[in-house]
Amino acid sequence: MEKRGKLEVITGCMFSGKTKRITEIIAKQKFPRQPECCKPSTDDRGGPNVINTHEGQQVLVKTIPAQKPEEIFNACHLHWHNTERRQLIIIDEAQFFSEKIVDVVQLLIKWSHHIIVVGLDLDFRGEPFGSMPQLMSFADKITKLTATCAVCGQKANRTQRIINGEPAHYEDRLVLIGGSDKYEARCLKHHIVVGKLEIVFS
Ligand SMILES: [Zn+2]
Repeated sequence: MEKRGKLEVITGCMFSGKTKRITEIIAKQKFPRQPECCKPSTDDRGGPNVINTHEGQQVLVKTIPAQKPEEIFNACHLHWHNTERRQLIIIDEAQFFSEKIVDVVQLLIKWSHHIIVVGLDLDFRGEPFGSMPQLMSFADKITKLTATCAVCGQKANRTQRIINGEPAHYEDRLVLIGGSDKYEARCLKHHIVVGKLEIVFS
């Protein structure tokens, strides 16, 4: 029977092992060709052919650095549209792409490809990040990974941003790429966003 396309989303806070999960998937994949990995060209840690994990490992894969989702579309169109072969396509750091990523992913699924979207579900404010909510809404499978809270050691699903040793303010602009010097994984209880309005029920 002809295989259909599908979308898998792997998400969670920073340090939850998303990149490690990608490398495991790449190692085990059974598609005839190596998967293509697309990521925003703003993420230049290590150059276009390397995926860096926060654990310091580097994994070599062929990547398509893309500024716009349309570039992913064009690259996939050129490579695979006429081959009628299913392909594993991994879109890393998907939260940084514009909302057009939703249309691009839907088209690639229609072409029967297996898409794995990887990205942060929440920004440092604890609010939905980019197009991740839309992508999760039509995903066939969602994996939510957790990290360990830097304060209490329990499961963490929030990303704490720290500037000069202090929790970041709600109005601080989103920074695209960060390392362990500026971010920590935290549980909801220990996630602090200075200046964020809390809902009060009266
Ligand atoms: Zn905690």
